[in-house]
Amino acid sequence: MVALIEELSRLPGIGTKSAQRLAFHIISLPKEKVQRLADTLVDAKQNISYCNRCCTITDDKLCPICKDEKRANRQIMVVEDSRDMAAYEKTKEYKGLYHILHGAISPMMGVGPSDIKIKELLERIQKEEVEEIIIATNPNIEGEATAMYISKLLKPLGIKTTRIAHGVPVGGDLEYVDEITLSRALQGRREM
Ligand SMILES: [Zn+2]
Repeated sequence: MVALIEELSRLPGIGTKSAQRLAFHIISLPKEKVQRLADTLVDAKQNISYCNRCCTITDDKLCPICKDEKRANRQIMVVEDSRDMAAYEKTKEYKGLYHILHGAISPMMGVGPSDIKIKELLERIQKEEVEEIIIATNPNIEGEATAMYISKLLKPLGIKTTRIAHGVPVGGDLEYVDEITLSRALQGRREM
């Protein structure tokens, strides 16, 4: 029980109280239901797959955005994770495609360029006719380092590379920024 509470409280947004409540709920369930929950968790992890084009988490070869022919396919917005993509989708302002890095370069955390989906981005650029890469990594040290790294890689390729404006609070996490601020950050993007 203690171990269960501990595991649950490690989940984002779950404090000790919520973890306790969930733990009590789980142990009150019939064994089959607990088994089903455990199986669903493991299945979700095992069957996870990434979109062949943008690397977002999806259960198909291509995600709905990459499949959508109405999207402007010469613009790619580079974000750290799928939640940032969801945040930008909510603004309904951006009509281009995305590329999900699944992290940011962080020497402190031992995350190097090869640990995130930069290679996939470069491979994609070779195949697609891209006009603009909008770098929308988070405005913190890791996000900036990642933006710099990518823009240096893209420079020799002659692709216009822009960085979203700092309407987004420094050190902030894109996921929690309101839609108006995100829209402004996109409109105010500057060439790197
Ligand atoms: Zn996709």
